[in-house]
Amino acid sequence: MNLSVFAQEYARAAMRKPGQFLQARPARQCTICGYEGRFLDVGPRPEARCPNCSSKERDRIMGLYLRRNGIEMNGKALLHFSPERPFFRLWKDNPNYVAGDVKLSRVANAVVDITNIQFGDGHFDYLICHHILEHVPADAKGMQECFRVLKPGGTAFFSVPLDQNRAETWEPPPGMPAAEIERICGWDHVRLYGRDFPDKLAAVGFSVDEIRFTPEEGERHRLTEKHGLDLQGLDRIFVCKK
Ligand SMILES: [Zn+2]
Repeated sequence: MNLSVFAQEYARAAMRKPGQFLQARPARQCTICGYEGRFLDVGPRPEARCPNCSSKERDRIMGLYLRRNGIEMNGKALLHFSPERPFFRLWKDNPNYVAGDVKLSRVANAVVDITNIQFGDGHFDYLICHHILEHVPADAKGMQECFRVLKPGGTAFFSVPLDQNRAETWEPPPGMPAAEIERICGWDHVRLYGRDFPDKLAAVGFSVDEIRFTPEEGERHRLTEKHGLDLQGLDRIFVCKK
C-alpha cells in the first residue's frame, strides 16, 4: 500500500465530499496498482478514484488493457503525453520513458510539441496520448508525428472527448472568435470530435482498434464515469498499431 498517496487522497476526499463516507460502497479493484477496497468520489463522480494510486476511470481502462496483454513498460521506449499520475509514478525510473508536456512539471520530464516531435522516425515502442488532440489546432499533423516516431509494430493509445451523436467532427469555421469556440467546445478545446475520430487515426496509417471491456469488468474496476452527464467517449480508448 502506498501510504502517502493513500493519506493524501483520503484527506482530499474528506475535505471535498465528507458525506461519501456515510454511504456503504462495494469493494472495487484497481487495474493499475491492484488495490482492492473502497474507491473515492471525485466531484460528481462516485467512486472515481483509487485511493492507493490516484487512478481515475479512464486510467483503469488503459491499465486493464496493459494487464490483460501482459504489457510491461520497464525498459521500453515510451512517449507519454501529459502523463496521468499513477502511470508516471510507475514508469518514471525507466530511462527510456519520455513524459512529455508543453512545459516541465512534477509529472513531465521533457518538453514535447506533438506537432513537431524531436525524436527520429521509429524511436518508440509505445506512445500514450489521452485527451491531448482536442487542444491541438493541427491535430492531423500531431497524429502523423505520433505515427512517424513509433517503431513498425509499435502501439499507440489515443482518447479524446468524443460525441457519439455526431457522425463527423466539427471544426470551427475560419475567423470564429476564440470565446465562441470555447463556448461550443469547452475550455481550451478547439473542436468537437465525432464518431469519425478513429478514421482520422487510420488516415495517417494506423490500424485502429477499440479497448473493450465487459459490464462485469466495468463494475469491478469502475471503468465508466458515473455522473449522469453525456459520457463524451470517456469510456473508450483506441489502440493503434503501426
Ligand atoms: Zn490503484
